[in-house]
Amino acid sequence: MPLLDRFSRPLRSLRLSVTDRCNLRCQYCMPEQDYVWLPRENLLTFEEIGGIVDAFTPLGVDRIRLTGGEPLLRRDLSVLIASLAARPAIADLALTTNGVLLRPQARALRAAGLHRITVSLDTLDRERFRGLTRTDDLAKVLDGIDAAASAGFASLKLDTVVIRGINDDELVPLLEYAKSMRAELRFIEYMDVGGATQWTANAVVSRREMLARIEAHYGPMLTLEEQSSAPADRFLLPDGTTFGIISSTTEPFCASCDRSRLTADGVWLLCLYAATGTDLRRPLRAGASREDLQRLIEAVWSVRADRGAEERLSMDRQTTLVPIRSLKRDAHLEMHTRGG
Ligand code: SF4
Repeated sequence: MPLLDRFSRPLRSLRLSVTDRCNLRCQYCMPEQDYVWLPRENLLTFEEIGGIVDAFTPLGVDRIRLTGGEPLLRRDLSVLIASLAARPAIADLALTTNGVLLRPQARALRAAGLHRITVSLDTLDRERFRGLTRTDDLAKVLDGIDAAASAGFASLKLDTVVIRGINDDELVPLLEYAKSMRAELRFIEYMDVGGATQWTANAVVSRREMLARIEAHYGPMLTLEEQSSAPADRFLLPDGTTFGIISSTTEPFCASCDRSRLTADGVWLLCLYAATGTDLRRPLRAGASREDLQRLIEAVWSVRADRGAEERLSMDRQTTLVPIRSLKRDAHLEMHTRGG
């Protein structure tokens, strides 16, 4: 029997953050000048990550996504990937990256056993990229995507956070670019999670609006009916191109959410919006066995009732979710710490 939470959602997908550091400063995630970082000595070693994963897999986790911050900043990441890929219980091993460091690492990641890769790409325009990320690394990102496209991954996806007045006029160019790279594009609604201190409701381009704009260009499209807990709904354009929309803000999908997150210092979060989590590092370092951790995980998941995006949708959203002073007090509230 799979382990179910209070809404009968199984424990299945685990997002593993391997670092809270990032080499970009995206406007929707890290817009501030200064950040408080997790103490280095608290970061889980690869061995500790493996030990925690081994406590999750007997309870149903078979999909793992490595995240950050920017996961490619973590030294020797391929070593962790090889160790996770060697575990038969893990059916799907994926990674989300901003792509800046991807070119030199793409082949090693694939050779280590990484199945799938997702690259964030919010614009094809160099000046916009500079404004959005405070770096001039668009060429590196595009080069990294090119490297990933020829490295032999089972799938390559591109994720675009759509922000009104910033990149919402690039839906079609981004779709065409993704097509040229044989990648599947997923548009993500701008979310008011912790760290998104510049979020406003007006800046959100809804799924409905995106679909209308895309249809106006390409003609009628089909919705692909899929039985999946994946966050994106997928669509088929008349030319055979598929793409996805992740509508976490206007049409959340908490009812089927089987995702949880582990921060780089071992705090397990049941929801992207969770205010607090369960520290797994402390018991692990205090000598807890795999069975001890399993019992803890089981006890926590079985009473999970999180549905953060749905609750947020029903609230008055005139202010940002977490005030900056709270973010400075607790780095675990930041999206870049909890793996996006
Ligand atoms: S808001 Fe929380 S419960 Fe809802 S889909 Fe996101 S992670 Fe899952």
